[in-house]
Amino acid sequence: MRTPYVAGNWKMNLDRRAARDLAVAVREHAVSGVDVGLFPAMVHLDEVTRATAGSHVKVGGQNCSDEQEGAFTGEVSARMLKDIGATVALIGHSERRHVYGESDEFIARKVRKALEDGLEVMLCVGETIEERRDGRTEAVCKAQLISGLEGIDAAALARVSVAYEPVWAIGTGETASPEQAGAVHSYLRGVLSGAFGEDHAAAMRILYGGSVKPTNAAELMAVPDIDGALVGGASLRPELFLPIIDAAS
Ligand code: PEP
Repeated sequence: MRTPYVAGNWKMNLDRRAARDLAVAVREHAVSGVDVGLFPAMVHLDEVTRATAGSHVKVGGQNCSDEQEGAFTGEVSARMLKDIGATVALIGHSERRHVYGESDEFIARKVRKALEDGLEVMLCVGETIEERRDGRTEAVCKAQLISGLEGIDAAALARVSVAYEPVWAIGTGETASPEQAGAVHSYLRGVLSGAFGEDHAAAMRILYGGSVKPTNAAELMAVPDIDGALVGGASLRPELFLPIIDAAS
């Protein structure tokens, strides 16, 4: 059985105090049998790792460099994330792919680096609305998944979770239906099974992301291949995020 996993992607939001208060609210809402993760802005990681120290809450960076150290202005390495107490890196988010032009190959290097330096990875994949309309959803998601996990061995795979996030559903209020999301999730599990074997595929968590709210979380997460949720907007408000955690239990 896969433990459900609900994570909040705070993006470029909140100030230090608000980040701490939100982290404390999440820390105090321990629900047994659900893994919870938070991805604050890099400058709030220290505050949030302190606020959640010793609790069930995993904290991660919203990005991570593919490089070790050196002259890479503006970048944050996997080692720096670890040093500050983060244990996860969110890699390949659609905003990184589409706003900042990150390629599959660049994303794959970041995944390898994060795993090599001992972090867990949440790898995001998902199609745009044009790709869906053209019937390319499966091909696009498969290519992003296979490329993102290239060169990863089965042992490291245990530290990877996948977030299927249709780009057209992110921050739009439009959610994939449980049938639409479930179809992609089971397809992706089949892809993982082909690449890594059935046992590894069965153990991996595939989260859904895209306008998850308390009103749709339970029906999405009731789908057998949907193992949790990556939540953007609603993760900024405890009155919305905490019920989503509850819905996963
Ligand atoms: C996200 O950014 O990962 C996300 C799913 O955002 P939202 O929940 O706001 O659609």
